[in-house]
Amino acid sequence: MDKETRIKLAVQKSGRLTDPSVDLLARCGLKLSRGKDQLMGYGENMPFDVLFVRDDDIPDLVQEDVCDLGLVGLNVLEEKRLELAARGSPARFEALRTLDFGRCRLSLAVPVEHAYDGPQSLHGKRIATTYPHLLGVFLQQRRIDAEIVILSGAVEIAPRLGRADAICDLVSTGSTLQANHLREVETVLESHAVLIRTPVPLSTEKNEWVERLLLRVEGVQQVKESKYIMLHAPRSALPAIRRLLPGSESPTIIPLEGSPDRVAVHAVCRENVFWETLESLKKAGASALLVLPVEKMLA
Ligand code: ATP
Ligand code: ZN
Repeated sequence: MDKETRIKLAVQKSGRLTDPSVDLLARCGLKLSRGKDQLMGYGENMPFDVLFVRDDDIPDLVQEDVCDLGLVGLNVLEEKRLELAARGSPARFEALRTLDFGRCRLSLAVPVEHAYDGPQSLHGKRIATTYPHLLGVFLQQRRIDAEIVILSGAVEIAPRLGRADAICDLVSTGSTLQANHLREVETVLESHAVLIRTPVPLSTEKNEWVERLLLRVEGVQQVKESKYIMLHAPRSALPAIRRLLPGSESPTIIPLEGSPDRVAVHAVCRENVFWETLESLKKAGASALLVLPVEKMLA
């Protein structure tokens, strides 16, 4: 396949998004061989090549059409969108799909010993962050006049160093905040990873591959929670059993040889199947219950 027909996809080189991104691509069927420099991954069985870069560079690479697609945090994407808008050049990258990893939130936190009763407490305070635009909008919307101290890292230690009164940073479990005697008080943005694409039109061939990748991503995400459930039941118990099957629209009903009033029910459940559900199904008349993991799914 010649060079122009290969799709370039930007992924974080080393960080929290790296493993889940590479894992998602692998589940979508992409076999990558990494180059010697580790900066590129070449798709062996699909026309996708992966560029490993800093996550902050991903929106620009996609916007400027150096890469066709990118996997990046919504936090980085939205900060970039606001930054571009402030410079008078609106963002043109397109968010194609929300992904189920990279979950975190951009939050405001204050030292535990400081009183806090609502955003108004931030008036006249200095807030350290690496997300000045997202924080700026949050403050503006609430008419809070605070000073934004822009840092490039180690935001959580700024209050202890006397550089700020509060911080605005990414949080997932809150353990970093706790270790730094900070208390989370407001959420500025709920974040997760997203798949983005270039605004530049792609060739038909590339578009088809992007569509295929999207369908596979969809399938991979659905499969994670899904289970295949099989059981036997008296026909009369079917209405009750259908109500109990979690997240399954149309189960397959199969007659059982030699027992006219009993059937086998097979269904894909788009939610986890818990012991409690199985116990309720049994109570409703089901027997020979079997729950299997789903490996692939294509609607
Ligand atoms: P790079 O060297 O690529 O710039 P980084 O230090 O900016 O790396 P990471 O800390 O690896 O980046 O975070 C990458 C992304 O992972 C974040 O932008 C965010 O979308 C997501 N993320 C998920 N949970 C967290 C968390 N607890 N703290 C920080 N980021 C998180
Ligand atoms: Zn970064």
